[in-house]
Amino acid sequence: GVDLDSWAYFGGEFVRLRDANVNIATHALNYGTGVFEGIRAYWNPAQKQLYGLKVEEHYRRMERNCRLLKIRLPESPAKLTEITVELLRRNGFQQDVYIRPIAFKSSLAIGVKLSGLEDAFGIFMAPMGDYIDTQKGLHLTVSSWRRLDDNDIPGRGKLTGSYLNAALAVDDARSAGFDDAIMLTADGHVSEGSAANLFMVREGRLITTPVTDAILEGITRRALMEMAGDLGIPVEVRTIDRTELYLADELFLCGTGVQIAPVTQVDFRPVGDGKVGPIARRLQQEYIAACRGENERYRHWIVPVYA
Ligand code: PMP
Repeated sequence: GVDLDSWAYFGGEFVRLRDANVNIATHALNYGTGVFEGIRAYWNPAQKQLYGLKVEEHYRRMERNCRLLKIRLPESPAKLTEITVELLRRNGFQQDVYIRPIAFKSSLAIGVKLSGLEDAFGIFMAPMGDYIDTQKGLHLTVSSWRRLDDNDIPGRGKLTGSYLNAALAVDDARSAGFDDAIMLTADGHVSEGSAANLFMVREGRLITTPVTDAILEGITRRALMEMAGDLGIPVEVRTIDRTELYLADELFLCGTGVQIAPVTQVDFRPVGDGKVGPIARRLQQEYIAACRGENERYRHWIVPVYA
């Protein structure tokens, strides 16, 4: 959970999280008019260093997504990166951390609209290890809830209100004993996990859904495509049919929160031989090493927090 004594950023200054509050009449609380991000920082115990992962890239995505809701960020992505690194430093974390920036319509107002409202921006953070199991292999189910279409609420936007869609799907899945849900598009193709993108392996090829299949344009997804290319694993971006999930050699979810989470069962069918596959395992090792500053090739992905 969050620590109310931790340092946060709100209203243009560093404050204790206990002082970063909103009123119940806040527009975003009532209508879901917010844009958020999820960023990670990784602790390297041997180096005694904390690394922010692709921080500026997350703020660039956030700045783009804010256009959807006509929100203006108070600072540039470069400046927000500096503020985030300073916040990590102030908190003095010596463990992995999850960072949550949020921009939202802050006017105390009744009325469904996007224009003529004030914007606010805040950042809070909390220690976080695995968000979902990354070792044993997950059992997923195809949700009966459809992923929001671009013309309903754009899923690429990371909009606060759109996560009701994910919450409905993941809650049903967990209540039925699964670890998470896979969501289909309105026309019945595979979209992504509830809060993660999806990769499939068939005949040695790594395959992921295109950004036009209602997915969040994931930063981890892009990073893994780059990494797979470097490792000589062929990568293909194409629409995935539901039943391919049942025939795949390997499946895994990826995202800032979930990291790389292998899937070993879908709807009571084993994926491949039912064990975590070699490509998922390989990418997982390489990716986490890069995040922890143990892979020179991907040094540009990370920013050190401590001097
Ligand atoms: N899809 C959804 C719906 C998500 O919430 C997330 C997590 N932000 C992802 C995919 C993965 O995106 P990223 O790799 O940028 O964290």
